[in-house]
Amino acid sequence: MNRLQPDPFEDGYNIAELYREREHRDDEVALAYAWFCRSRQLALSVKNKKNDWELCDICFFHGDESKLFLKEKLKEHCEELHGGGFLCQRRGCVVRCQTLREAGLHYYYLHEQRYRDWWRFLLEQHGIEA
Ligand SMILES: [Zn+2]
Ligand SMILES: [Zn+2]
Repeated sequence: MNRLQPDPFEDGYNIAELYREREHRDDEVALAYAWFCRSRQLALSVKNKKNDWELCDICFFHGDESKLFLKEKLKEHCEELHGGGFLCQRRGCVVRCQTLREAGLHYYYLHEQRYRDWWRFLLEQHGIEA
């Protein structure tokens, strides 16, 4: 950073530090979803009709398991094991998440990324072969 330029964050609130922390947290969250996308892709690639199957978001993030279900069975599974969950608002998506926040994160990372394989790049940046 150019020392002659005034630092907009140089005040008593230490905003720059908070912002860095925030950025780091965001990165951890993004990385967790990158793992989810990777597991999902791996799991779906072994099924013949991958369009009919979906990974349970709640099992993955709260049970540490990659569990595949036929799309029409996922609702039942979530009702039986996870108390229902919050259904993704994306038309045609059957994924349910444990909290509204997670449903929002799911939406953002699974449906709103500009590049379909964004997660590959992120994992590679972290030295993980995707
Ligand atoms: Zn589950
Ligand atoms: Zn979705």
